[in-house]
Amino acid sequence: MAPLPGSGLAKGLAVTLRTMTKKTVTEQYPDAQPELPPRTRGVIGLFEENCTVCMLCARECPDWCIYIDSHKETVPAATPGGRDRSRNVLDRFAIDFSLCMYCGICIEVCPFDALFWSPEFEYSETDIRDLTHERDKLREWMWTVPAPPALDPGAEEPKELTAARKTADKLAAQQETPQPPEASREAARAGEPHADEQARAAEQPTRPMGDSKQQTDQPRPDQPEQEGRE
Ligand code: SF4
Ligand code: SF4
Repeated sequence: MAPLPGSGLAKGLAVTLRTMTKKTVTEQYPDAQPELPPRTRGVIGLFEENCTVCMLCARECPDWCIYIDSHKETVPAATPGGRDRSRNVLDRFAIDFSLCMYCGICIEVCPFDALFWSPEFEYSETDIRDLTHERDKLREWMWTVPAPPALDPGAEEPKELTAARKTADKLAAQQETPQPPEASREAARAGEPHADEQARAAEQPTRPMGDSKQQTDQPRPDQPEQEGRE
């Protein structure tokens, strides 16, 4: 059946009227800031203190847009006779956001929690080279990273907290138990037999010479020696 003349116009006007009466969804950015979900992938922040320069993030990045430079440093042994150790020192950490595709792989693979998503997104530049953010800039983004959400009620305690609590309890128990004297502890460490007795004896007040059985058996210098012994 052929459509009635003017029906198309009526339909179009109906759509226009319906849309006019609906609540607007347009956000007036930049006059009004958008309300983004807290875990929005805006930019990547670097918590440098956690980074061990393991290079996992740079290796796994599909776009090869993470640049890391480092050098090795020797750390002297903490105890005498110990071994010197070497550690990596970070010289450069940069991410080129003109190449980054915001996949989040680098953040997922970092074993030391050194990379985080920040919801900040206003870092457009007129020069593409400025989109390579060096470590100082990446650190600034760190302060815009939102706190992690609270655990679900009844969820298991994170293993880091459990380990920290166990260590604190152990230290508290050690402080409550009376400790053996230092001399005994040192001797025990050295594996000396009867170290506790020796340390206790060392702590006893010195008795007068005459009280000692060993001394009574010995002739005194001012006494004549017994005949049986001559
Ligand atoms: S988000 Fe993805 S593309 Fe961007 S730096 Fe990380 S791994 Fe590379
Ligand atoms: S994976 Fe993490 S710890 Fe390793 S280099 Fe990257 S940011 Fe540093």
